[in-house]
Amino acid sequence: MQKEITGRAQVDGQRLRARKRFVYLVALAAGVAIFLLSWMIRTPGDAFLAYLYPLFALMLVALFVAVWRAPGPLSRLEPWMLGLVAAMILSRLAWHFHAGGPLDAHLLVLAGGHYWAVGIVILAAFVMLEHRRGLRAGLAILVVATLIAVSGIAGEWQQGALSREAAVYLLRIHLFLAVLLGLASVATSMRDTVKDALVRSEALEQAARTDPLTGLANRRAAEAVLEQHAASVRHDGVPVTVIGLDIDHFKSVNDTHGHATGDAVIAGVAAILRASVRKPDLVARWGGEEFLIVAPHVGREGGLELAERCRQAIAREPIAEVPVTASFGVTTFDPQDTLDDVLGRADDMMYRAKEAGRDRVLSDDALACA
Ligand code: GH3
Ligand code: MG
Ligand code: MG
Repeated sequence: MQKEITGRAQVDGQRLRARKRFVYLVALAAGVAIFLLSWMIRTPGDAFLAYLYPLFALMLVALFVAVWRAPGPLSRLEPWMLGLVAAMILSRLAWHFHAGGPLDAHLLVLAGGHYWAVGIVILAAFVMLEHRRGLRAGLAILVVATLIAVSGIAGEWQQGALSREAAVYLLRIHLFLAVLLGLASVATSMRDTVKDALVRSEALEQAARTDPLTGLANRRAAEAVLEQHAASVRHDGVPVTVIGLDIDHFKSVNDTHGHATGDAVIAGVAAILRASVRKPDLVARWGGEEFLIVAPHVGREGGLELAERCRQAIAREPIAEVPVTASFGVTTFDPQDTLDDVLGRADDMMYRAKEAGRDRVLSDDALACA
């Protein structure tokens, strides 16, 4: 069960990374298209557009290839992508303010278009970097954009030539960017808090279901799984085998070799059982040195075979240098069974196996092996 949860988390992580990579590739391809299109329909005399846009497009192509081919996670590339894209957009903004001629409404409208891009880069900072670094990068982008605008309008301001409309326009844009930054920061910090809480509650829940010595499902988790199987036996007639097993003469293991060796034997038996069952089967530590195996879609014969395979695997070699055997009781779920019925039968068979001489498998249809 523990393996199942870790496996699920890994698959989720891989899927998320693949989706992220796809989004970056689409964004970079869109960036290349925008730079090339702007270059193709440029007004004559705009040297920045004529010479630097193709260069930007080339850099984005290089980033596209890097993201596409990058092995593993993209965390190393993300700061580079963000830095480069921010530098491209801010340098065009600076060009508008410092090399675009006198400040007029036309220039501001042009610059306004680039402020949208600045807003998108601020948001991207929070997506690409973790919250604190995202906030720092977003602030740096906002400060640079503000400095570009302030230094760009300083001359007009001093001469009293800055129109009220232009001042209000710039103020509004920067306020909007600041609000965007604040909202993105609050949203990502809330997301992190919720994520932490989810991870913690999943870890707690997993701990509550897991036996610490063996890493197997504990009795509580096994009972929950058994309840589910009981329902599927009742409704769909799926055969389910339940096997109880108990290590033979375990007290003498503790007495002769000490409690630590006893623990190592329990952990060793758990590992053998886990390796002997199929993926959908459940192996649980029922208590002390007793285990439970629940095998869905396995009937009487299959159940006996499975128990016999486990018995032989345990007896094959010493565990923690101690020869170990175990006794098994096998039963299958009947549709009218309660949990107590089925567990009682498995327990009964297991004790009969003990009485019959231990190191054996006994099934409730009186078939004995070994
Ligand atoms: P039998 O063949 O009849 O099962 O004999 P047994 O000696 O195994 O008898 P029983 O099942 O009653 O003994 C279980 C012993 O397992 C008693 C207890 O001290 C020991 N035990 C239970 N839990 C643990 C544990 O976590 N670690 C260790 N080292 N010993 C445990
Ligand atoms: Mg016992
Ligand atoms: Mg025992």
